Amino acid sequence: GKGTQAPRIKDEYCLCHLSTGDMLREAVKAGTEMGVKAKAIMDAGKLVGDDVVAGIVAEAINGPACAKGFILDGFPRTVNQAKILDSLLKKQNVGIDKVINLHIDDELLIKRVTGRLIHPASGRAYNIFFNPPKVAGKDDITGEPLIHRGDDTEEKLRTRLQEFHNKTTPVLEYYNSKVANIKADDKMDNITENIRHALDAEEKKK
Ligand code: AMP
Repeated sequence: GKGTQAPRIKDEYCLCHLSTGDMLREAVKAGTEMGVKAKAIMDAGKLVGDDVVAGIVAEAINGPACAKGFILDGFPRTVNQAKILDSLLKKQNVGIDKVINLHIDDELLIKRVTGRLIHPASGRAYNIFFNPPKVAGKDDITGEPLIHRGDDTEEKLRTRLQEFHNKTTPVLEYYNSKVANIKADDKMDNITENIRHALDAEEKKK
């Protein structure tokens, strides 16, 4: 998914990687006022307020790592967020070059996410349907127990998908010809290669 691909792409293209999901999770962990408010919304699988996420992005985009450009991961998720972003970027005389839409069938995504098992110490990920551990519930290398992430339940994922189809799909229409549709039900390396193609084609137009 996007969280796997963005770190691969950012080094190659000298960009910074700004994930609103990661930044929100950090705020939750740090227990800031914003984090406390965001936690309940995120746990429910709903979208955090537009002003909150736009504020985080506005601040992060000015960081030194973003001087040559940025990858926005998971933002904008609503048309209103896209409009806020536009006015923000206009002031800085920059714009969005390309929008990458990693698309996957809902039912397949549900299987992938609900089947996901994590070894917390290493971050190693398994999937009970697609990539099961050698011994059920145990990490292949250390033999330690695997965990199921709290937000990886079918019920929460269905709410997230509903939010996605209602509020995020219109963002693709908003960006229109800037969108590259890439199949996310594929090998990680193939997806990376398809993203490179989309970015390089854009670069040639300049
Ligand atoms: P992600 O890691 O991108 O899947 O985001 C995890 C959760 O953070 C989402 O389900 C939302 O609750 C919240 N979130 C992340 N990005 C946004 C955004 N751009 N707008 C609203 N909520 C967001």
